Amino acid sequence: MESALTAAEKVLAPLPELSPDVEEMYEDLHRHPELGFQEVRTAGIAARSLRACGYGVHEGVGGTGVVGLLRNGEGPVVLLRADMDGLPVAEDTGLDYAATDATGVREGRRVPVMHACGHDVHVACLVGAARLLARSRDHWSGTVVALFQPAEELGTGARAMVEDGLYERVPRPDAVLAQHVSPLAAGHAAYCPGESMAASDEVRITFHGVGGHGSRPEAANDPVLTAAAFVLRVQMVVSREIPARERAVLTVGSITAGEAANVIPETAEVALNVRSFDPAVRERILASVERIARAESDAAGAPRHPDVRHTGGFPLTRNDDVLMEKVNAALRARLGEDRVHEIGPVTGSEDVQYIADAAGAPLYYWWLGGWEPEEFLRAYRAGTADRDIPANHSPRFAPVRRPTLDTGVAAMAVAALSCLASAD
Ligand SMILES: [Zn+2]
Ligand SMILES: [Zn+2]
Repeated sequence: MESALTAAEKVLAPLPELSPDVEEMYEDLHRHPELGFQEVRTAGIAARSLRACGYGVHEGVGGTGVVGLLRNGEGPVVLLRADMDGLPVAEDTGLDYAATDATGVREGRRVPVMHACGHDVHVACLVGAARLLARSRDHWSGTVVALFQPAEELGTGARAMVEDGLYERVPRPDAVLAQHVSPLAAGHAAYCPGESMAASDEVRITFHGVGGHGSRPEAANDPVLTAAAFVLRVQMVVSREIPARERAVLTVGSITAGEAANVIPETAEVALNVRSFDPAVRERILASVERIARAESDAAGAPRHPDVRHTGGFPLTRNDDVLMEKVNAALRARLGEDRVHEIGPVTGSEDVQYIADAAGAPLYYWWLGGWEPEEFLRAYRAGTADRDIPANHSPRFAPVRRPTLDTGVAAMAVAALSCLASAD
């Protein structure tokens, strides 16, 4: 009987030999970032790499999604997920492999593109882990599904793959695993039990008024004032309606109305974003937003009720306790007992939960450190990490290649192994 640790060591043995390939792929991906649903080149690289090591590959799943299948006898099915998209950000890292000229199309306009969220790290690490698992089929049994997802940043890529028949092409997994690079010390991993990332909802509200001359408001009905009153009152939802023990954020990010100083417009549009960690809290906030929008509109004597539209969002990210403990044991055995840290929840959001929920499978999603460890620790001890270390989505977000990539490949491989069956 082979112990889990021994199997992990055997699976990871070829890693030093694979590292230069992973690093080269990472630099290439970083130089050529692509926006959500435009990841044609990235998807091609993922598909070729999977085929080359024996995976059955489906391309064009949910647009540009790629999913590889490696069947290796009886045992659990484990799905490993990487997201592929870059962001409309102009890179300012000064790296010699920076994507200084990369562009993409967003809403009909050409915009700069950068891997400012590190999805290039995720793709390179998953390819590395998929190769290690393919080379070590004697040491495990079960099925590995390697999934490369488009458009995580848009919150629609995971759903697109599921709705395009993901689980008609590959078996439903028993576990879904994903990692995200973040401004923590490289060589380390971090996790949050339970609700680890917020649900996010985007709501757009159009207030209707009656347009007219700015000098004669009595003959009009001013939607700008209604929108302004709404923006103030809606701030009271989190402070007055949500218990202090719950966490929620409500931000109005956009107000659009009118063209001229002396014209009262017909409509005013408000767009807001809600982050929550509990489905009941989420429902309460969304209902209150709608109630306040109607009430302000009524209070103003508006000609008709406002239009309230839910225009997008991300599900809550929820780590499964049992899966988390199992994978963390494998991560600790590989990275070191003191290099896997529990941290609090994050108000950012993710759409990987769709992939798990659509299969009825548990999810475990952890953070992969990407910053130079000494520099990170210095900033952390001084309490200046938030200021000194560029976070995800910053034009200066620049994970170090070593040991981030090796750690990410190893973490994904041992995590997968902890969910698969032992070969003997
Ligand atoms: Zn991001
Ligand atoms: Zn991201």
